Amino acid sequence: VTVGFIGLGNMGAALAANLSAAGESLVVADLAGPARAPAGSVFVADVGVVAAQCEVVVCSLPDGKASATVVRGLLAGGDHIVEAVIDTSTTGPRAARVISDELEMEGIAYVDAPVSGGVAGARARTLAVMYSGTDAACSRVEPVLEGLSDNRKRVGNRAGLAQAMKLVNNFLAATAMAATSEAIAFGMEAGLEMATMLDVLNTSSGHNTATDEKFPNHVLTERYASGFSNLLMAKDVGLYIGEMREAGGPVDIGEAVDVLWRRFAAEEAGADFTRIFPFVRAEFDSRGESIT
Ligand code: NAD
Repeated sequence: VTVGFIGLGNMGAALAANLSAAGESLVVADLAGPARAPAGSVFVADVGVVAAQCEVVVCSLPDGKASATVVRGLLAGGDHIVEAVIDTSTTGPRAARVISDELEMEGIAYVDAPVSGGVAGARARTLAVMYSGTDAACSRVEPVLEGLSDNRKRVGNRAGLAQAMKLVNNFLAATAMAATSEAIAFGMEAGLEMATMLDVLNTSSGHNTATDEKFPNHVLTERYASGFSNLLMAKDVGLYIGEMREAGGPVDIGEAVDVLWRRFAAEEAGADFTRIFPFVRAEFDSRGESIT
């Protein structure tokens, strides 16, 4: 089996490298060119060429729109040999269902397989791969999923359920990062050191993924290099709240978190998402100025 990989961004480059290291024969494509094609892979400029050479295609694309465009490109040539598509992008459940239906009409299996754990987790093979699809679709792609990470969990038997799981996860991660940024900014304003607060929090009841990983590794060190952009986090929170509104569910916390991530993504488009801390903290200064 030859595996296609489309989208060699921060996450895709790491996942494609894992597949290559696992011994898969890989044909890769990205609009941005071959710079991040893993060693041993064959780069092609056109997704139609991927479709003509690969039975299984893995995508790591920005959003559902890009995934839909790529999937149509795979089918366009007429000479494709694609049997299954795995989408590791965060597209939201709706896009996953639409893409799944389009592929099903062509007799192609689809598994949505979004990921969590960051670029560092992908390299360490600890990245969570949550996936869903029919029994037939899942058993077709599981050998390829094994190449992506050692941490894989099937969460359901139809397309879109893994996307719902991913939105649950990222809404919580986004909320932890936003709330921790406000709380740490408050503590610093009150005269506490960030390192002291993290030390106390991580053995206290306020600890979360921001206090135990993002703040120590990216904020305290001022590295801000998680490899996940604020545009993608704002997209994920937007997908979550869109689904929640559609379902008529509660959005008290969701709206506050959504507004903050959207504002940060609009003002510093493309920044690492961990820079939300200095973005939030700067409000102390701007409020102080407006008072005086
Ligand atoms: P990225 O923006 O770094 O990379 C996306 C890549 O897709 C780019 O290289 C771009 O050129 C390529 N691309 C876009 N449209 C294309 C098209 N039509 N054809 C071919 N290539 C195309 O994004 P990323 O950080 O790698 O994230 C990819 C997906 O994984 C997103 O859906 C994101 O939400 C999800 N994700 C990322 C992380 C992370 O830590 N970076 C973690 C979990 C999930």
